[in-house]
Amino acid sequence: MQARPILWIIIPCYNEEQVLPLTAPMFLNKILSLSQAGRISAASRVLFVNDGSRDKTWDIICDLARQDEHYLGICQSRNRGHQNAVLAGLMEAIDHCDITISIDCDGQDDINAMDEMVEEYWKGSEVVYGVRSRRDTDTWFKRTTAEGFYRLMNGLGAEVVFNHADYRLISTRVLKHFADFEEVNIFLRGLIPLVGFKSSSVYYARSERLAGESHYPLKKMLALAFNGITSLSVKPITLITGIGVCVSLLGVAAAIWAIIEAILGNTVAGWASIICIVCLLGGIQLISLGVIGQYVGKTYLETKRRPRYIISERTWEDHQRHWIEEET
Ligand code: UDP
Ligand code: MG
Repeated sequence: MQARPILWIIIPCYNEEQVLPLTAPMFLNKILSLSQAGRISAASRVLFVNDGSRDKTWDIICDLARQDEHYLGICQSRNRGHQNAVLAGLMEAIDHCDITISIDCDGQDDINAMDEMVEEYWKGSEVVYGVRSRRDTDTWFKRTTAEGFYRLMNGLGAEVVFNHADYRLISTRVLKHFADFEEVNIFLRGLIPLVGFKSSSVYYARSERLAGESHYPLKKMLALAFNGITSLSVKPITLITGIGVCVSLLGVAAAIWAIIEAILGNTVAGWASIICIVCLLGGIQLISLGVIGQYVGKTYLETKRRPRYIISERTWEDHQRHWIEEET
């Protein structure tokens, strides 16, 4: 008898009829080889999440599921975007497995990094981030904007792992706590680190798409970045407050300057009083906006109803992993 974790690989698919037939067998082979090596249970599965595709993706998934019991599929009622598709898959898996690995279906992320991820899990990590060590195959533009984005996120106080996208292992123990994050605008890369628990990273080289086209044009990338920043950080509001204070100070200085000019007789009648009023009012207005912004920001964070703490261990509890016992 040996206990081994059940793994579910979660794969979001949106209009991927070209690439799915190529990559699906790769995922299946990975599960089979890992289970033959005794690292995961034979009850492991590959779960495709069809994100409201308009092409034959769902038909392909249904065919795969008929061919081999290791393939499973769920279909979203319409396109909800990559992040929600991954979330749907993770939540579907939560009651059926011990670990999940989410990965894109286009073969860009090195499937072989899964071996290392599972090893890290055996060593005790509950979350294992797949980090791109090289981006040679991405265009200069994609590489620069993407890396700039990770820097900006961290600068704004949102904790994201540099060069890590949505290729990661998460144990269901962590997922159950993550399910308590009830916010609607989700940015998984920023939220998973908030859950905590022991984590580690594995490195891999990102390659090119095997077939089909990217669904992340600049517009979607910007939307993702904006969503990531606004749903994790209220620093932009603090920035506005800061600007308000600076402008007020400048306003006071300008008012003093105007008064001095008026006393020296360098001005026409009425100019100094108008400058004073404009400067002071401008400053007061910006500060007021900043203060209101602080409250709005707090309200925003409160509405997310995020868990205030998460306990990972208790001395009176056996926190052994709940792996299934199976015949070897
Ligand atoms: N995807 C999705 N819904 C969408 C857009 C993309 O489920 O609305 C999936 C897509 O099928 C792929 C993954 O998200 O498995 C990443 O998309 P893509 O490879 O197009 O992005 P890129 O790697 O170019 O950033
Ligand atoms: Mg891709």
